Amino acid sequence: MLSRFHRNNGRFAVILSLIFAGGVLPRPASGQERRPNNPFAKQFGGGDPQEFFKKFFGAETDEDRAAVEKMKVSTREERRIGQSAVDAYLAGMKRRAKVTDRGKDVEYLRKLVTTLRPMMKNAGRYRSIRVFLVESDEPDARSFPGGTLIFFRGMLDLAENEAALAGVVGHELSHLDHQHQLYDAKRMKLAQRTFTGGNGFSPEAFFRDGMMLAKSFSRPFRPEEESEADADGVRWVYKVGYDPREMAKLFLRMAERSREARGAPAFFRTHPYHADRYATAMDLYNELQKKTPKKELYVGRENLRERIPKSEKTF
Ligand SMILES: [Zn+2]
Repeated sequence: MLSRFHRNNGRFAVILSLIFAGGVLPRPASGQERRPNNPFAKQFGGGDPQEFFKKFFGAETDEDRAAVEKMKVSTREERRIGQSAVDAYLAGMKRRAKVTDRGKDVEYLRKLVTTLRPMMKNAGRYRSIRVFLVESDEPDARSFPGGTLIFFRGMLDLAENEAALAGVVGHELSHLDHQHQLYDAKRMKLAQRTFTGGNGFSPEAFFRDGMMLAKSFSRPFRPEEESEADADGVRWVYKVGYDPREMAKLFLRMAERSREARGAPAFFRTHPYHADRYATAMDLYNELQKKTPKKELYVGRENLRERIPKSEKTF
């Protein structure tokens, strides 16, 4: 990335100064999709951060990635970016479905989060995690920077038992733990540091723009990110005593489902394919059994049905 930075130095300085001056990026779109009406957005990817980075820096190399991943986003910056993203996402969602942060389902999910959160490497950074429930049949779940998880009721139905649902919770917490969604913000920070000596450009201001933000957060995770989150989900539920094979089976159920229905929710989107995710999860389960054998692993059908976590009652 660095060599290309230099080649494009002049051009980039112009863009940054446009951003500094404000008014170039459209104001937050209050959840509404808006077309870019400024030369900056038109020239660089039509408001899509991925296109912007690609057009400007070219294809990304492993070396580029390593440099980006070293960038730090402060807790405060992360919260701000996350808050904007959650606001935009929920504003859009509320037009289609009921969204709530209270009730029996939310309380139940919160308790599962409490069980799994200590497994995170950065648990201290995410001391309180907000949970929302979308009243929708879609089996989906998402996480947002700063520590917000959004579950769709359909996921509670498809999970069939607490072990599988705990795996989904672990998967989402893993995305947070590895800061998978802060990648674009880190790229902007690196670009800023390289060009301006750091005088005032804030990545969160950049990402506050409604459309940039929506596109940044609708980007599917990279296959490596999904695999990493799946692996954490399996390891973490195993550690706290659930049977990770239930999470694996959930991927199979999803494979069956998506053969019937068109499109897939974000949680199950694109690569790796469901069948691969199933096989990888089962392999990891076998590995864990070899290393630290556990005879009794918990499934918890009744727990999910009653919305009472195993931390409170075993059936
Ligand atoms: Zn994921």
